[in-house]
Amino acid sequence: MTLVIQKYGGTSVGTVERINAVADRVISHKKKGQNIVVAVSAMSGETNRLTALAQQITEQPRGRELDVLLSTGEQVTIALLCMALEAKGYTAKSYTGGQVRILTNSVHNKARILSIDEQKIKRDLGDGHIVVVAGFQGVDEHGNITTLGRGGSDTTAVALAAALKADECQIYTDVDGVYTTDPRIVPAARRLKSITYEEMLEMASLGAKVLQIRSVEFAQKYNVPMRVLSSFEDGEGTLITSEDNTMEQVMISGVTANRDEAKVTLQGVPDEPGVAVAILGPVADAGIEVDMIIQNVSADGTTDFTFTVNRNDYIQTQTILEKVKHRLNARSVDGDEKIVKLSVVGIGMRSHAGVASKMFKALSDEGINIQMISTSEIKISVVVEEKYLELGVRTLHSAFGLDES
Ligand code: ASP
Ligand code: MG
Repeated sequence: MTLVIQKYGGTSVGTVERINAVADRVISHKKKGQNIVVAVSAMSGETNRLTALAQQITEQPRGRELDVLLSTGEQVTIALLCMALEAKGYTAKSYTGGQVRILTNSVHNKARILSIDEQKIKRDLGDGHIVVVAGFQGVDEHGNITTLGRGGSDTTAVALAAALKADECQIYTDVDGVYTTDPRIVPAARRLKSITYEEMLEMASLGAKVLQIRSVEFAQKYNVPMRVLSSFEDGEGTLITSEDNTMEQVMISGVTANRDEAKVTLQGVPDEPGVAVAILGPVADAGIEVDMIIQNVSADGTTDFTFTVNRNDYIQTQTILEKVKHRLNARSVDGDEKIVKLSVVGIGMRSHAGVASKMFKALSDEGINIQMISTSEIKISVVVEEKYLELGVRTLHSAFGLDES
C-alpha cells in the first residue's frame, strides 16, 4: 500500500473552513487506498502572534520557554484537523512532536531532528487510522520541547517521510508549484513539472521562498521525493527529486532575483599574502556572512577588494572595513546597498556551453551593466543596479526560452 506524507502550511489551515477542506483532501487520498500521515503548521499568523506575546513580556525570552509557547500553535491544528476527520467518519490520531518522539538536539528555536520513533505511527496506520503530527517541533533527550526554526514543518514532513520510507512527501501550500521565476514579476512564468534537489536548493537560497531550505537538504540526503502542490486547487504540482528522475533536460530551470544583499569595496589594498584574510577575518569574527567575493588584478601593486553581505549587515561591515582600511593603509571604503543579484539556475548548464555569454549578451542588449559575476556548477549570478530587477528577470527569462508559449 502506498504511504504518503502530506504537509499543510499555515494558510492551508488558517480557518475552520480551510481545516475542513484539508480534511476532505486527506480523505480523498485515503479513499484511493493510500496510507496518510499528515504534518501541519500552526494556523496562519499564529506563530507570529505567539512570538509577539513573548516580546511583550521580555525582549529576550529564554529559548526553552519560547519553544514551549511556540509549539502550542501546531498543537491546536492537529487536534482540530483530527476532529474534522472524525466528524467526516474517519478515525484519526493526533500527536505532538514529543509524543511520537521526534528526537532533536537541544538547540532551542532551531533544533535539528536526530531520529523519529516510527513504531507508534506504523501501528496506527496498520489499524486504519489517519495520523496527524504537529510540525515544527520535537523533544530533546531530556524531554524538553524544541522547535525547528521558522518554516520547520516542511522539515518535519520530510523527516517523517524518510523515517517511514514513504512513497512521496507532499507539501501543500498557497502556490501550485515551483515556478521558473516569480510570476508577479513575469506573468509568463511557468510551473515546473520537476526540478532536482540541487536546483531547488539554489533557487531557495536565492530567494524563491517556497520551502524551508533545510527540508530540501533532508530530502536530498534521504532521497525522499517531494512534491509542492496547492491546497486550494487540484493539480500535479512540482516534483523535487534526484537528477535521474527528472524528465525535462533543459539548460536553465529558473531565474531568481535577490535584493537582500549589499556590496562593499575596499579600494587600493596592497596586493600581498594575507590581505584577503585581513579583510574578511574581522567580518567573519563579527558573525557576518559573505556571499560573492571579487579581487581585482593589481595595478601598481595595489588592488580593489569587493564583496557582498546581507543588507542588514551593511553598516556594520562598513564600520569594520574603516578599521581595516587604516591597518592596511588602503585608499577608501565604498559601498552600495541598491543592488540586486540575478541568477540563472539549471543542472543543464553542466553540459551546455555558452550559458554565461548568452546571459551577459541578453543583459547588455538591455543596457544593464554587470557589476559582479560569480558562477558555480549549476548557477551563474550577476550583481546589477537594483532598479533593473524586473527588467533583468524578464530579459533572462525570455532569453533562456522559459516564457510560456
Ligand atoms: N508555524 C511555524 C512557522 O510559522 C512552522 C511552519 O509553519 O512551518 O514558522
Ligand atoms: Mg511554511
